[in-house]
Amino acid sequence: MIRNSLSAFVENEMPRHLAQKWDKENHFPQDVFNKLAELGWMGLTVPEEYGGSGRDILGTVAAIEELCSRSMAVACGYIQSTCYAGLNLVEVASEEQKAELLPKVAAQGLMFAYGISEPDVGSDVASVRTTAVKDSERVVINGNKRFCSGAAISDYIYTLVRSGPAEDRYKNLSLILIPPTTPGVLLEPQDTMGLKGGGTFDVTFTDVEVPLKNIVGGEEGWNKGWSKLVGPGLEIEKIEVAAMALGIARAAVDDAWAYSQERVQFGKPICTIQSIRHMLADVKTKLEACRMMTYNAARLANEGQPVGVQAAMAKLFVCDTARDIVLTCQQVFGAYGYVKDFDMERYVRDILVMPILGGSSAIQKNNICNLLKLPR
Ligand SMILES: Cc1cc2nc3c(=O)[nH]c(=O)nc-3n(C[C@H](O)[C@H](O)[C@H](O)COP(=O)(O)OP(=O)(O)OC[C@H]3O[C@@H](n4cnc5c(N)ncnc54)[C@H](O)[C@@H]3O)c2cc1C
Repeated sequence: MIRNSLSAFVENEMPRHLAQKWDKENHFPQDVFNKLAELGWMGLTVPEEYGGSGRDILGTVAAIEELCSRSMAVACGYIQSTCYAGLNLVEVASEEQKAELLPKVAAQGLMFAYGISEPDVGSDVASVRTTAVKDSERVVINGNKRFCSGAAISDYIYTLVRSGPAEDRYKNLSLILIPPTTPGVLLEPQDTMGLKGGGTFDVTFTDVEVPLKNIVGGEEGWNKGWSKLVGPGLEIEKIEVAAMALGIARAAVDDAWAYSQERVQFGKPICTIQSIRHMLADVKTKLEACRMMTYNAARLANEGQPVGVQAAMAKLFVCDTARDIVLTCQQVFGAYGYVKDFDMERYVRDILVMPILGGSSAIQKNNICNLLKLPR
C-alpha cells in the first residue's frame, strides 16, 4: 500500500521534468516536501503517542526507495526528517526533546542535518575536533564541519562535538542540536557532482551558543555522544543508504529496459541484440539481489532483532552492486547516457557517492569482520 500510494505521489507531484529541474538548479522543492508531510509520510518513524503512525522501518525503507527512484532532492529531505530526526530522537533523545520535537517531525517534517564529518575527519568519526564547553546555562561550540548535507533547509544540525579531554576517546563526545540560523553559524555551499537539492555545506561555528536543553539526551547526554551515535540509528542509516542506491538503480534499469526497445540500430530495436539482452538480464538479476539484501536487513531492524552484520552487508553489497548496475545501464544508452537531457546521466552522478556515504565500502568490510569477531 505504501509503495502504491507513494508511487502515485511520485508520478503526480514529482514528474521527470521537475526532477531534472531541481537537479539542475540544486533546488529543494519545499512545496512537494510539505505535501509529503501533510499526507503523514514523515510519521512512519514516529510512535503514535507523538503523533506518528508507529516505528515502521520496512515502510520507511520502501518510501526511501520510491522517492529515490525519481529525485534525490525530495528523498534527501525525507530522510533528514524521518531518519536523521525521527529515528534518532526516538532512540537517543530525552523525554523533553521527544515531546517537543517528534510531533513536529510527524506533522511538519522537522529536519536534522548531520554535522559529523570535518575537513580532517572522514571515516575516523571519533576524532572530531569541533569543541563544546558548557557552563550552568549554555553550551558554546567552536569548529568546522564539512559535507553537511541539507544544512540550510534543516531545523537543527545534529552536531558531533568534543566535549571532554582529547585523550578520553569515545568518552568525550556529545551530540548538540544547533539551529543553522544561530548567530556564529556560517554556511558555505560545496559544489558536489550529484545529490543535488538540499545542497551540501561547509559549516563554521564561531562562539555559537545554545541552551543546555539542546544537548541530545538532555544534560545526561553530555559526553555520551559516541554511544548515541553508534546505536541502532547508525545501523538503520546503512539500510537507508542501501535503499537510496536501490531506488536509483531501479530507475536506471527501468529506463534502460524501455530505451532498449525504442532505440533502433541496424534496422531493429537494440533489445534484440544478444549483448544488450545479456546486460539487461544481468542488471535485473543484480537488482533482485539488492532488493533482497535491503529488505532482509530492514525486516530484521523492524522486528528489533540484531541487524549490525546484515546492515553492513546490505550497505556494502547494495551500494557497490547498484553502482555497477547503473554503469551497465548507461552502456545500454550509449552516447545518450552521457548527456544531461536524459535522467541516466543524473543516476550516474548520484549513484557514485553511495559506496562513500554513511561509512565507505572499505569501512563496511571492516565492520563485518569485526562484528563476526575475525581475530585481528
Ligand atoms: C555528497 C556528500 C554528502 C555527504 N553528506 C554528509 C552529511 O550530511 N554529514 C556528514 O557528516 N558527512 C557527510 N558526507 C561525508 C561522508 O560521510 C564521508 O565522505 C565518509 O564518511 C568518508 O569520509 P572521507 O570521504 O573523508 O574519506 P576518508 O575517511 O578520508 O577515507 C579515504 C579512503 O580511505 C579509506 N579508508 C579510510 N579509513 C579506512 C580504514 N580504517 N580501513 C579501510 N579503508 C579506510 C576509505 O574507504 C576511502 O576509500 C558526505 C559526503 C558526500 C560526498
